[in-house]
Order: sequence, then C-alpha cells, then structure tokens
Amino acid sequence: TRSLAETDIEVREAIDAELKRQQQTLEMIASENFAPTAVMEAQGSVLTNKYAEGYPGRRYYGGCEHVDVIERLAIDRIKSLFGAEFANVQPHSGAQANAGAMFALLQPGDTILGLSLAHGGHLTHGMRINFSGKLYRVVPYEVSKEDFLVDMAEVERLALEHRPKLIIAGWSAYARQLDFAEFRRIADLVDAYLMVDMAHFAGLVAAGLHPNPVPHAHVVTTTTHKTLGGPRGGVILTNDAAIAKKVNSSVFPGQQGGPLEHVIAAKAVAFKLAAEPSFRERQERTLRGAKILADRLLAEDLADSGVSVVSGGTDVHLVLVDLRDSDLDGQQGEDRLHSIGITVNRNAVPFDPRPPMVSSGLRIGTPALATRGFGDAEFAEVADIIATALKPGFDDEVQARLRERVTALAEQFPLYPNLDASASE
Ligand code: PLP
Repeated sequence: TRSLAETDIEVREAIDAELKRQQQTLEMIASENFAPTAVMEAQGSVLTNKYAEGYPGRRYYGGCEHVDVIERLAIDRIKSLFGAEFANVQPHSGAQANAGAMFALLQPGDTILGLSLAHGGHLTHGMRINFSGKLYRVVPYEVSKEDFLVDMAEVERLALEHRPKLIIAGWSAYARQLDFAEFRRIADLVDAYLMVDMAHFAGLVAAGLHPNPVPHAHVVTTTTHKTLGGPRGGVILTNDAAIAKKVNSSVFPGQQGGPLEHVIAAKAVAFKLAAEPSFRERQERTLRGAKILADRLLAEDLADSGVSVVSGGTDVHLVLVDLRDSDLDGQQGEDRLHSIGITVNRNAVPFDPRPPMVSSGLRIGTPALATRGFGDAEFAEVADIIATALKPGFDDEVQARLRERVTALAEQFPLYPNLDASASE
C-alpha cells in the first residue's frame, strides 16, 4: 500500500524528471509516440501479476478467465483493424515479433533477403550480430544511387540469384512507400515467403493512409508503440491458417514463456482507439507535418549550406535529413537540436561517407507531436526552428531564441497534465 514515492524515491524522482523532459521538449524521434493515459492505466494494472502461458482457452495456468477476455479483445480488434484472419498479440517487442515470425518460417542456415541496415533496414532484418544475421545467410538489398528508392529490379535480381527462403520488406529509416504487390510477385517467382515489417508505418495503415501489406504478405509483423501509439510491444498477423499455427508455437513455447497480459490489455485499448475517427485525423496531421518539414528543409537557404532531404521528400511520418554535403555531421545536428529542446536521432544515410557513430543524417518524425495536438501551423513553426538550427550562424544568441520558440510550442500543447498531480513535488 506504500506509494512509489514512499517506497523508492530514486525511481520516483527519475520518472518525474522524465515526465518533465517529455513535457518541456519536442519529441521528434520517428519511432516514438505518447501513449494515452488509458493505455498506461491498463499497462500499470494488476494484470502484471498473472501467468497465462498458452493462448485464450488453452492455458497452462488456472485463473485465466479474465486475461482470456482481454487477449481475445486484443486479437479481435487488431484483426479487424488490418483485415487479417489471424493475430498473435504476445510478442514482447517488435524484435521478438520478427524472431517469432522467422522461427515459424525458417530453419537456421536458410537464406533471407532484407533491406540493408545502412540503407534503412532494421537490426532484425539481417544485421551481422543480431539473431537474424547469426542464424541465417543474409543477402542485403539496397536503395538505388539515383533516386534513393528501393530498387525492385535489384531485389528481383538478388532473389533469382540467391533463392532466399524469406524476403523481408519493411524499414526503420526510409521515407517512401514500398510496393508490396511487387515484393510478393518476386517472392512467388522464387518460392519464398514474404514478410512485411510494418512497425514504423502501422498507424498510417490502420488509418487507411498507407497501403495495407496484409493482403500481400505471408506474414506481417509490427510494433505497437510507434505510429500505432500504444504500449511497447509486438504483434504478428497472417491470413494463412497453417502459418498462424506455426507462429503461435514459435512465439510460445518457442521463444517466450508467460505473455505480458498487462501489455496485451494496453494493446487492446490502443487498437480500440486506432479504429476511432480521431486516430485517422491524427495520422493525417502526422503525414502533413512530415511534408511541411521536408518542404522547409528543401528550401534554398538550406541547400546553400549542404542540407537536403534523402529521396527529395516523404510519403510517411518521417523525414531523413541528408547532411552528406554539409559541414555539420549527424552527431552535431542531433546535439544542436537537443540544445534547443528538440529530440531526434542521428542516422546513417545511404552511401554515407561518415562512420555510423557520427553519420550524415538525421531521422525526424512527426507522430509524437501530432499526438500532442500539432497541426499545420505548429509543424511549420517547428520546421523553421529546425531549419534555422541546421544553418551556419548558430551561436548562443540564435540558440537561446530557438529554445524560447520551442518552449512556447511545448507550453501551447500541455502533455499529460493529469499526471502532474501524481508526481512527487
Ligand atoms: N522492426 C522495425 C522496422 C523497427 O523499426 C523496430 C524498432 O525500431 C523493430 C522492428 C523492433 O522493435 P522493438 O524495439 O520493439 O524490438
């Protein structure tokens, strides 16, 4: 019955400080979002106490009648959100969703074809020291040097040459849509499975603002905490009954023990919210915000200082800033924005001449600010703040002025005002 403040003041104070950081800065990490308080309420519930190995109706523990209700709600809601016939909502994260799907479809030593990490792919798509790179023979595909788009002719050539068992379409740092039908055509050509990892853009798909990979792929994986706006977690979807069976046994008992029913409850809440009209409206603001940012960063004043946008724009919720021709590197760009209260991450751009720890890019996303309430006018203001920060002439005075503009935006859109009371003052 003792409160957190009474039990552990060190953790309480660090959480309070993190709340303040989120409230007082502008969060533009493309993979982040702000979970609604209803989602956090479900996640912070007594469900954390419950063991429920197995699946609804087939558990290895007693007392599962209520978590069965919750897990079935999560499954039914996400199936309806994406038009999928089967869903496994138990993966603890996106990486575990990918492991679950890959263990279901592959044997160690099989060949996989995935987007290179250096060109926007994810660690789990075949990075050397990730499980995917250790267990499987990895053939990476890249974007084209001309337009920085995934080169489907190259994907087809590599597929025909290497006959992969699995082709992975999906990305962590790419600002365009993929052609899922074309990926499936190539997969069928070489008798490979197609897995789409929609972790980044799932919220756009749920809102009907991005093509849905579910009808095209053998299996679709996602995280639930990025554009989808729910708790940290993963999900696997498929329309194939035989694959669904394999996925279920590869998640449990294949790689996980007890599911996190408190997180699954939070997922269920998030999936309910994602079906509401306000969710679509938020995703529309997310997309418009990214376009406003890309347009501002493509303006002449920035071109003069070597700042540009990879692929010349965006169709999704993020912009990849290209600093290859700028004196400023990714690390310096990230630090500059941090110094004025904008949080982004540096990111390698394709054909990056600088080492990955420094890099020549910034990945800037709009989902969290759209959740906070930003519309076109606020995105135009934040885009101009970022543009000004990345230009030459950034001194203490410019920094102070930009920091003030950031603070004004943050104060205009209060975040989690209801949580201030629970914080220890
Ligand atoms: N897949 C993609 C495309 C991602 O971008 C990410 C996270 O960055 C993941 C999977 C992994 O998700 P998690 O961090 O929850 O393991």
